[in-house]
Amino acid sequence: MLFIFDLDGVIYTGQTVLPHAAETVARLQAAGHAVYYLTNNSAQTRRGYRAKLAGMGIDAPEERIMTSAYATALRLKEEGARGASALVIGQGGLYEELGAVGLRFVEPSPDARADYVIVGIDRQFTYEKLKAAQQAILHGAHFIATNRDPIYPLEGGRVEPGSGSIVISVETASLTVPEVIGKPSPEAAEIILKEAGYPPDQAVMVGDRADTDIACGRAAGMHTVLVLTGTTRREEAEQLPEELKPEWILEDLSGLEAAFQQGK
Ligand SMILES: [Mg+2]
Repeated sequence: MLFIFDLDGVIYTGQTVLPHAAETVARLQAAGHAVYYLTNNSAQTRRGYRAKLAGMGIDAPEERIMTSAYATALRLKEEGARGASALVIGQGGLYEELGAVGLRFVEPSPDARADYVIVGIDRQFTYEKLKAAQQAILHGAHFIATNRDPIYPLEGGRVEPGSGSIVISVETASLTVPEVIGKPSPEAAEIILKEAGYPPDQAVMVGDRADTDIACGRAAGMHTVLVLTGTTRREEAEQLPEELKPEWILEDLSGLEAAFQQGK
């Protein structure tokens, strides 16, 4: 089977690997399953996430890692955006992935003009950047968001603002709804399915958020597992609306193979 793991809240929180994550991945790989990773977080490049995972004892080749930044870059490449200008609100990983497909970056000045405004997580977000994005969009830039995750989980149950918190402020200021590339859009998951060569019914999405991970997995026609190691508590998980319900709810990754062996 093909397993696609979300990262934040599933494999790690912050800089800390979650219990059972490394062992579960190793067991799945040893049993011949294909393991991929799909994160909405656009802060780092695939190379960066590979290094982060390696530091946690997880061997994840770069080509098995999909990020919302890379998915956005692939989409723009497909649209023929090479050479187009982009005002980016984001961090290094997003710039690097977009630069690799030939986007030209525009400084966030008050009279910024660009073909695209692309927004992801930016821990240096400012009013000036918000204004620049607003002006560019009001003057016709196509507004793309890497994802809408409102928060990211950290160690000890703490959270920090996710890129959705920034996207919504650009959306509010520009009176424009962005096109969202990351989960819940099935776009990135479908790229993985195609690359890995698995039909959706032989694939499992494992995530900690229903409105992104589970919605994405279901939209792609995959099996779905919600783990309670991230942003969703059991009471919330059990009260999800029908369209966001996962097939399995697990405390952590230790029960993953058992869930599949037992069936539903
Ligand atoms: Mg997550």
